[in-house]
Amino acid sequence: MAEVGAESNPLRVAIIGSGPAGFYTVSNFFKQNELRVELDMYDRLPTPFGLVRAGVAPDHQKDKSVMRAYDKSAANANFRFFGNVEFGSHITLEDLKKYYHQVIFTTGAPVDRNLDIPGEELVGSHSATEFVAWYNGHPDFANLAFDLSQESVAIVGMGNVAMDVARILSKTPEELAETDIADYALEALRESKVKNVYLLGRRGPAQAAFTPPEIKEMGELIDSDVTIPADEAALDAVSLEYVENNPDKNADKNIGYITDYAARERTDKKKLLTIRFLVSPVELIGEGGAVVAVKIVKNEAYKSEDGSVRPRATEVFEELPAGLVFRSVGYRGVSLPGVPFHESWGTIENDKGRVQTSDGEPVTGLYTAGWIKRGPSGVIGTNKTCAQETVQCMVEDLEAGKLLSPEDTGKDAIEALVRERQPQVITYEDWKTIDVAEVRRGEAENRPRVKFTNVGDMLAVLGR
Ligand code: NAP
Repeated sequence: MAEVGAESNPLRVAIIGSGPAGFYTVSNFFKQNELRVELDMYDRLPTPFGLVRAGVAPDHQKDKSVMRAYDKSAANANFRFFGNVEFGSHITLEDLKKYYHQVIFTTGAPVDRNLDIPGEELVGSHSATEFVAWYNGHPDFANLAFDLSQESVAIVGMGNVAMDVARILSKTPEELAETDIADYALEALRESKVKNVYLLGRRGPAQAAFTPPEIKEMGELIDSDVTIPADEAALDAVSLEYVENNPDKNADKNIGYITDYAARERTDKKKLLTIRFLVSPVELIGEGGAVVAVKIVKNEAYKSEDGSVRPRATEVFEELPAGLVFRSVGYRGVSLPGVPFHESWGTIENDKGRVQTSDGEPVTGLYTAGWIKRGPSGVIGTNKTCAQETVQCMVEDLEAGKLLSPEDTGKDAIEALVRERQPQVITYEDWKTIDVAEVRRGEAENRPRVKFTNVGDMLAVLGR
């Protein structure tokens, strides 16, 4: 028999997860001109694209244009999509080992980190992850409710997700109505009574995790002013020394916007976004089981042993009224059945994308890319180089003969098994039908699309 990867004996790869890391795995494989490869991508949702569909903010449509490139990859005859199929329930690792030479996990980081402070369990305290998935119409989150009758909302964290949440809460219904935000979220936000939005960062302006375009947008909101207490916008001595010794263009730009906002006067705009630096929540205060305020402590910056600038609590406390609190302190990966997992990092154990045991022993045939490989960092494009590194390892291992030993490498046998386990499997063609229907629904309202937010409606479009 010809070698694996030859025209008559294609390399068979299963990709678990259809977000950016999954699709960059596809494009990287199809760039290998000498290699004949067949790629089957699985996703537990009927719709592909992971966080590009359910995470990227609806008012950031440009960031979603990568879907066109993913479409091109998907058009290759050697690509198949099995949506609505869950790894670990419909299909197991043992199943996949019977049909593929290699399996790559690109499942992202779907859950959030906790603050671990008293009161976090109160009604009105939520993770940003839930809110983001809700306003983006993720079927698992479509039934959640957020009490937008509250006037004050606090968001903990200074990353781009915190900025997304703050912006969605601060925009007018008219601004949001131009986007593909879930219909129910648009309706709820139309009725929103939110007036004050607080963004709470534990470190200073020079350590903010957001990027310049995101902080710039905060100064351009139609009906929300932005303000920053002048003493918190000014750089502390430790940060000043740090930025002098570690020039960083993004941090410089961020500081420029922050300085500008601190000098702004309040106008007659209805809402106010207040950005606070060097503060940490220490408790969510409740009344009748619901959050009413956030107790924060003022931090001071100090230089840690590794040279970075870290926050240290002082004895100065303050209470901010807030009936709704979102923690936005980073995402976390979830372990997958049969795949070695680093619990404290929330990532699959791996070396350059090669899955390994906790003792560092490589696990033949298993790979990973994206946030589940390296943690939740970087922008969409970061996953391109991340997937490239893993695909290179996969090709090297193919050349070295380090592969799984599937029993049946025909395309039909695995498809038959998938269809038996999940009769409602969604192919890429099915997805394109759903896609066209969503876009058509959006046309009448001048919106990019109106999403289907439950699986039943998606299946109905397919006449099932
Ligand atoms: P992130 O960028 O890692 O930011 C997490 C924030 O939470 C940081 O400000 C961090 O502060 C803070 N934090 C962590 N633990 C905390 C604690 N115990 N108390 C208070 N604050 C705490 O994460 P993210 O915002 O979830 O974003 C994830 C990734 O997606 C990032 O790479 C982001 O750039 C990307 N993303 C990009 C876009 C875009 O391009 N528009 C949009 C959304 C997300 P410290 O710095 O002090 O740790």
